[in-house]
Amino acid sequence: MKINQFKKLDIQEVFSSIQGEGIFVGEKQIFIRFSRCNLRPGCSYCDTKIKPLNNTFSLNPAKNKTEIKNAINQLIKLIKNLETTSGPHHSVSLTGGEPLLYVDYLALLISQIKKMKLKTYLETNGTCYKQFEKIKNKIDILAMDIKLPTDCRKSYWREHKKFLTLANNKKIFTFIKIVLTAKTTQQEIQTSVKLIADINKNIPLILQPVTPVKKIFPPKNNIILAYQSLAGKHLKEVRVIPQIHKILGLK
Ligand code: SF4
Repeated sequence: MKINQFKKLDIQEVFSSIQGEGIFVGEKQIFIRFSRCNLRPGCSYCDTKIKPLNNTFSLNPAKNKTEIKNAINQLIKLIKNLETTSGPHHSVSLTGGEPLLYVDYLALLISQIKKMKLKTYLETNGTCYKQFEKIKNKIDILAMDIKLPTDCRKSYWREHKKFLTLANNKKIFTFIKIVLTAKTTQQEIQTSVKLIADINKNIPLILQPVTPVKKIFPPKNNIILAYQSLAGKHLKEVRVIPQIHKILGLK
């Protein structure tokens, strides 16, 4: 691995909480929240701060192997500390932002996490398939979003298809999440469902009504249930799950 592959590393926060989304909802996890996202300005409902927070962990483009090793060691120290004070944890969630922007750091970090016998849980916007290719062997659980054009100003069907195909071929435990807003269209749900079903109809789909933010609201309940029925005709498992951590007032 060449050193010049490493870009500036920015981590917003490292903390212990419960997973608030998807099929592992309620499981205790250590979260490593990476700053920055390749979809910026991105999704209309995005609540990820662009600038790192106070307890940020920041490393300028690493100049040598020692710097990189030190950065990873510091992170592992934080993880070990959280496991001792707040564990046991189900897994370590690599979240963001988009964690795959830091894939070369991730490769090293994950190897260390594995030594601690903790599972790795990757939360991703499902577009950086080339980066994912580099670490797919080390991911235990993949929580992949399908981003809809009405929310993200652009369509990413091609990228999502490549990403999900890679995960499916590797047999990584995967589920898909789609955030529903009042703007979501039936056509978008149909296209998403076809994309998943063409790859593997056993991949669970979570429909997540958006937590109201910045004048973005969820669809009406009857629409949500209609989307679930529509998806359920082609996929084995389709569930409606809101963001539980927001309801509980947790991080
Ligand atoms: S993909 Fe995630 S981090 Fe990026 S803009 Fe959308 S919600 Fe925000």
